[in-house]
Amino acid sequence: GNPILEVRDLQKHFHLGSGKTLKAVDKLNISIASGETFGLVGESGCGKSTAGRTIIRLYEATGGEVLFNGENVHKLRGNKLQEFRRHMQMVFQDPYASLNPRMTVGNIIAEGLDIHGLADGKQRKQRVSELLDAVGLNEEHASRFPHEFSGGQRQRIGIARALAIEPQFIIADEPISALDVSVQAQVVNLFKKLQKERGLTYLFIAHDLAMVKHISDRIGVMYLGKLVEVTTSEELYANPLHPYTQSLLSAIPIPDPEVERTRERIILEGEIPSPLNPPSGCPFRTRCPKAMPECAASMPEFKEVQPGHFTACHLY
Ligand code: SF4
Ligand code: MG
Repeated sequence: GNPILEVRDLQKHFHLGSGKTLKAVDKLNISIASGETFGLVGESGCGKSTAGRTIIRLYEATGGEVLFNGENVHKLRGNKLQEFRRHMQMVFQDPYASLNPRMTVGNIIAEGLDIHGLADGKQRKQRVSELLDAVGLNEEHASRFPHEFSGGQRQRIGIARALAIEPQFIIADEPISALDVSVQAQVVNLFKKLQKERGLTYLFIAHDLAMVKHISDRIGVMYLGKLVEVTTSEELYANPLHPYTQSLLSAIPIPDPEVERTRERIILEGEIPSPLNPPSGCPFRTRCPKAMPECAASMPEFKEVQPGHFTACHLY
């Protein structure tokens, strides 16, 4: 289908007092079709959350553009901006910190309805109870406070809040990372169910590939503010091209003990370089097991090396 979101050469640079520039997001290109789930993966500090926040315009971009339904998000003003804010919502990583402890669950969920003046009285109450039901809670929960709920339940409340104004697009920033492993799959399944029922499009941010496997149609892998590989979920797991993706995949345990025993682990040497002082050439070269002399000399171009499969690496 047509892309609902097109991110073109998006850049979010922070200029620090020392005269240094932190290139948190550097020339990011992503296109997401309506109804699709795009998983964005990378280690902490790679810029994935900053990318999400710049796309939804919690941060102003310092370069490039974000087109949502064909409109440049960073140029919207007034009513148009208000309308955009209705169509794109965010679910945050920490369900403990992101819910106001002094508000009832009902008021938290209805906040968007109140801000946009979309429902009041009986209709508002009705909407809240429908939303609680949609996320697997019930209407009695509306009068309670966030501290009365478990982490998984709080994330369900966060999801209900995001859904209240019927957005088309949800950016979920590590929505399951803070949850117990036993609860993670339930929350992923909830995202999938809601997508099916409501035709939602997701940008699903995570720090490891295991978390996005079952929800993403396509996946992008980020390293030091840049995308290093993008392809379909199946293709990425079956045929990872970039050495960084290969190392991330090799770190995921495989349930079959026979396969697990004979498998080769790729252990990366060294720390992630400071984004304030990235290496010359390929940003991954200081940890790459396959680095060659040319990797220090020039930055590999991000290009389509197989149909629908993009990567930035001099091996291809
Ligand atoms: Fe490794 Fe060179 Fe490819 Fe970078 S360009 S990922 S250093 S082989
Ligand atoms: Mg983050």
